[in-house]
Amino acid sequence: MSVLNQKTINDSLNFRGVGLHSGNKVSMTLHPAPPNHGIIFKRTDIKKNNLIYPSVHNVSSASYCTKLTNEYGISVSTVEHLMAALCGLGIDNLLIDLNSEELPIMDGSAKNFVENINEVGFKVSDQPIRIIKINKKITYKDGEKFITFEPNKISLEIDFEIKYKQSSILNQKNNKNIYMDDLTDMYNSRTFCLFEDVEKLKKMGLAQGGSLDNAIVLKDNEILNSEKLRNSKEFVNHKILDCLGDIYLVGYRMVGKITSSQGGHNVTNQGLRDLLSNNENFSVIELKEKNIPHSFLVKNPLKSTA
Ligand SMILES: [Zn+2]
Repeated sequence: MSVLNQKTINDSLNFRGVGLHSGNKVSMTLHPAPPNHGIIFKRTDIKKNNLIYPSVHNVSSASYCTKLTNEYGISVSTVEHLMAALCGLGIDNLLIDLNSEELPIMDGSAKNFVENINEVGFKVSDQPIRIIKINKKITYKDGEKFITFEPNKISLEIDFEIKYKQSSILNQKNNKNIYMDDLTDMYNSRTFCLFEDVEKLKKMGLAQGGSLDNAIVLKDNEILNSEKLRNSKEFVNHKILDCLGDIYLVGYRMVGKITSSQGGHNVTNQGLRDLLSNNENFSVIELKEKNIPHSFLVKNPLKSTA
């Protein structure tokens, strides 16, 4: 069956953990969903108006994590690592039950999500996927930070660069081709912060669940965690993971070339809002196998088990 048809998971999957910012204990269950359902969050601790649809325009806050809020003011936050896993694995349809306002942070990466989803396997439907294709170059700038979306042939490339004055080991650059590359390093890369920011974040009511078990903490150029880096570009690979998760809020897999320097959740979201603000900037198309080169299908890592 086609790798370009919509997919869900074979069986329900439960994740338990703590919310990075809220500190709340949370149980989250991913349920299989039918074609054209999309990815929907459901707050099971709230009885009414509790469905939250991922959308670029539902992002109510993008500082330190991505928070989605529906029209009734009900939110889910820190959606980006799960969304990146779902995008990379090619999952189109899921109902995600959540008994709290924030997803579990797990180990600060998408590793647990990806491994468990791969274990339970995929169910492939007979409905084709839709993709969003960039037609025009769009740049969003905020001082030195920027993100650019450009047309690309068939792949999604994310080129990311980070620069920090405080810690030189955080200056990194990397490029991932999402549909062609092995993404293990990206999925396994953990979130990070500077030791000097920990107290500041806690005073702001953030990072209440943060610990060395779910974030890399840097003091000057030293890593305070006993587990050292999982790969040599873990910091920038995590930023690529965040970027992919934020991009998947458009509701489709994207074809385009993305370049970002010193960006983050807010820059990505503002860039996406600019991109979507004019219909000439993009097109949404149904992707069928006859339309794309054979080499893409051969190299495509999204193998079906159905
Ligand atoms: Zn992150």
